[in-house]
Amino acid sequence: MHWDSVIILMLDLSSLYPQSFPRRWLNLQEYQSKKLMQESGVAVQRFYVADTPSEALEAAKRLNAKEIVLKAQILAGGRGKGVFDSGLKGGVHLTKDPAVVGELANKMLGFNLTTKQTPKDGVKVKTVMVAEALDISRETYFAILMDRSCNGPVMVGSPQGGMDIEEVAANTPELIFKEVIDIFEGVQDDQALRMAANLGFKGPLQRQAADQIKRLYDLFLKVDATQVEVNPLGETPEGQVVCFDAKINFDDNAEFRQKSVFAMDDMTESDPTEMEAAKWDLKYIGLDGNIACFVNGAGLAMATCDIIDLHGGKPANFLDLGGGVKERQVYEAFKLLTADPKVEAILVNIFGGIVNCAIIANGITKACRELELKVPLVVRLEGTERRSIYSHKITNYTH
Ligand code: ADP
Ligand code: MG
Repeated sequence: MHWDSVIILMLDLSSLYPQSFPRRWLNLQEYQSKKLMQESGVAVQRFYVADTPSEALEAAKRLNAKEIVLKAQILAGGRGKGVFDSGLKGGVHLTKDPAVVGELANKMLGFNLTTKQTPKDGVKVKTVMVAEALDISRETYFAILMDRSCNGPVMVGSPQGGMDIEEVAANTPELIFKEVIDIFEGVQDDQALRMAANLGFKGPLQRQAADQIKRLYDLFLKVDATQVEVNPLGETPEGQVVCFDAKINFDDNAEFRQKSVFAMDDMTESDPTEMEAAKWDLKYIGLDGNIACFVNGAGLAMATCDIIDLHGGKPANFLDLGGGVKERQVYEAFKLLTADPKVEAILVNIFGGIVNCAIIANGITKACRELELKVPLVVRLEGTERRSIYSHKITNYTH
């Protein structure tokens, strides 16, 4: 892309604010992902969704299954080994008795579930999935993801699936298999069969698994996913290959053509500060440290976080103001930073190449006056007022 058009694009986006809500890879709940899988002919077990213990009990009766699995729905993995603040251990439970489903749901719904992928206070469970349980004779891991180093999609699989795939990758990397997919050709038969064999599927199960792999790839393309992860992709004693878990991430740039997928996003698990920042078109990610960073440009923001770290400090956040920033955004960004009780100092690091330093300075001055700043503030503003050059270029384009 030509630099002039980049600049125009930036100003265009900023003129849309605050209506534009940037997001980072939409993530859906397991039950929502499984609905999409069902529509693509991927094998998942029968299920219902419930928001109350009595609905869960009803769903368990309606399922009329030999065994039932109850699964807490949160946007994080590791649920099986998670713990609720109700005292209940495990976000995934198997039982043969529908009444037990009601009792367990009572200890899940409305309580926080902490797993190794959640913040330490966990995430509140608002929905549970009540599904038909199947015996699993073997658990494998399978995923398709966009991999920058391969310039396209890659399949990753391991015969050692289940709940500790991170450990498998760390301790026995030779048990992780990869297949690079040619985006123009799609998954080839021999690739799917080879992956199925690497996952340890034998005899007729190999074909079945290869078929599931191809369907998962069709789904990956159809919904503009950045990742489809199935852990476990399991084998039953009856000889079925079934996707027991589902995690799909979506490319936010495809929102315009994936309206029904994006409509499923309830945002209830999003971090409130990140949501507020998104409203103002600020790229904000909360971190654990105590030095707030106020930076323009993702690269400079990352470098600033690194430098703080290198000198023994800890950044409290990543904040990219972007280009074309307005005074109001500067003020709102400061409001967010100062509202964070962890913040003990603020470091402003602005390069006045894509923003006008005067806008930043005015925004900061206003914020300091109105917000009664109580923490030390260190400001580095470097660069000049370049807006006149940019507006000149835009005039040329619009003529
Ligand atoms: P998480 O990855 O968040 O821990 P999973 O959905 O993978 O959650 O469930 C954890 C484990 O529970 C699985 O590895 C599997 O052993 C078991 N499990 C999940 N779904 C079923 C099911 N339908 N039938 C039997 N066991 C299941
Ligand atoms: Mg899993």
